[in-house]
Amino acid sequence: MPLYEENPIELYNSLTRQKEKFEPLNPPHLGLYVCGPTVYSDVHLGNCRTFISFDLVYRYLTHLGYKVRYVRNITDAGHLENDADEGEDKIAQKARLEQLEPMEIVQRYTLGFHEVMSKFNAHPPSIEPTATGHIVEQIDTIQKILDNGLAYEVNGSVYFDVEKYNKEYDYGQLSGRKIDELISGTRELDGQSEKRSPLDFALWKKASPSHIMRWNSPWGEGFPGWHLECSVMSTKYLGEQFDIHGGGMDLKFPHHECEIAQNKAANGKDTVRYWLHGNMLTLNGARMSKSTGNTLLPAELFSGNTDKLEKGFYPSVVRFFMMQAHYRSQLDFSNEALMAAEKGYNRLMEALVKLEKLEAGGNPTGFDIEQWRRDCYAAMNDDFNSPILISHLFEAVKVINGAEEAASGFTEKELQLLKSTLHDFVFDVLGLLPPDSDSSNDKLDRVMHLLIDIRAKARADKNWALSDQIRDELTKLGIQLKDGKEGTRYSIH
Ligand SMILES: [Zn+2]
Repeated sequence: MPLYEENPIELYNSLTRQKEKFEPLNPPHLGLYVCGPTVYSDVHLGNCRTFISFDLVYRYLTHLGYKVRYVRNITDAGHLENDADEGEDKIAQKARLEQLEPMEIVQRYTLGFHEVMSKFNAHPPSIEPTATGHIVEQIDTIQKILDNGLAYEVNGSVYFDVEKYNKEYDYGQLSGRKIDELISGTRELDGQSEKRSPLDFALWKKASPSHIMRWNSPWGEGFPGWHLECSVMSTKYLGEQFDIHGGGMDLKFPHHECEIAQNKAANGKDTVRYWLHGNMLTLNGARMSKSTGNTLLPAELFSGNTDKLEKGFYPSVVRFFMMQAHYRSQLDFSNEALMAAEKGYNRLMEALVKLEKLEAGGNPTGFDIEQWRRDCYAAMNDDFNSPILISHLFEAVKVINGAEEAASGFTEKELQLLKSTLHDFVFDVLGLLPPDSDSSNDKLDRVMHLLIDIRAKARADKNWALSDQIRDELTKLGIQLKDGKEGTRYSIH
């Protein structure tokens, strides 16, 4: 029997505001869509938390034996600076400021984003589609919505007709907002606006002469609205109905509300079965914000090169820290909290090292491993409750720490089950890495740079004997030094 059959999941569906039994449309296949980053600057730590939360979801569902198609997009066009339908495209703005091609900005920050995600040991998605790669599909969807009478064209732009949509369907069902309240909460349209109602949002915007990111369409040169890409790319790769859509809580309105409306207006269906939203990350008790200076970049977190932290933290320690909170709870970053998480992480990893040395036999511990294993699964089956899972893992840590190495108090079968269960949850599900896997590389790298510096000094002093000795001895070890314009590099064979 596959693990997923033994482990029915309950998850909190933001759409119904309650925990529901998870029933996939087409098991063992499963569709998961997560809104990805807008790649115009270094990835925000709050976004990292969202992506790591959904990495946990992806890892657990995969662990249970589901064949998950995980789609996470890259927004590389259409996201305007004030998140509404006005202002400059965030990527075009950065490109103008730095005098680069928009696609250079996109490439730089996409690579940076991938690097940070890989440090956090987050799996890449199965498909990572981009908005600019799906302009044709977006134009098709706009045409469908126009054909269904739920959008209108004005002067080369196309807007979604929210009030007309709301007569037939329910706009605001995800965020729990009522259309009358929304209308009274928005300011009146000024005479300049092309929109029929302030609630209407752009599906296609006419490009002004200075707008550098532009494409041809039946309505003239322009670019797609930000909300559209996720409707289009999720349904293209996961079908008109799919299982789970995730994202940060801040995307619920208007982004996800608009996605629901676009899907329904285009194909008449409720596309997403379960909406999952991750909660926010704060720093020292306050909202992170560039303008107040209360921010922390992933690179600063790893290096400790910031006045917010005493030292740098290993990415898996940070990941462990995030896993200690449920994805729907707010989490606060602080030096103290990270130091405490580091202690917990080290205790867990040390227990795993000790476990490898334990042998079967001795007086029974009374620790019921079968029951403990069921408790671990039960925690994750309950809306991916990682903090409860971690508390169960520490019950095992306590037993391991109390054991004599020669006689653990377990039978061989129990010992194997303890090992495999801990391995599954710590490495596969929580996605933690052991402490030395990265730092040993890091140490080697530092030693290599030390040797390269000593050799450079020897060469400067014309001490050819020493410089040749360093190079030759390294070659014997399979490490090649290459001198170039940017200094000496090494490669390991
Ligand atoms: Zn999205």
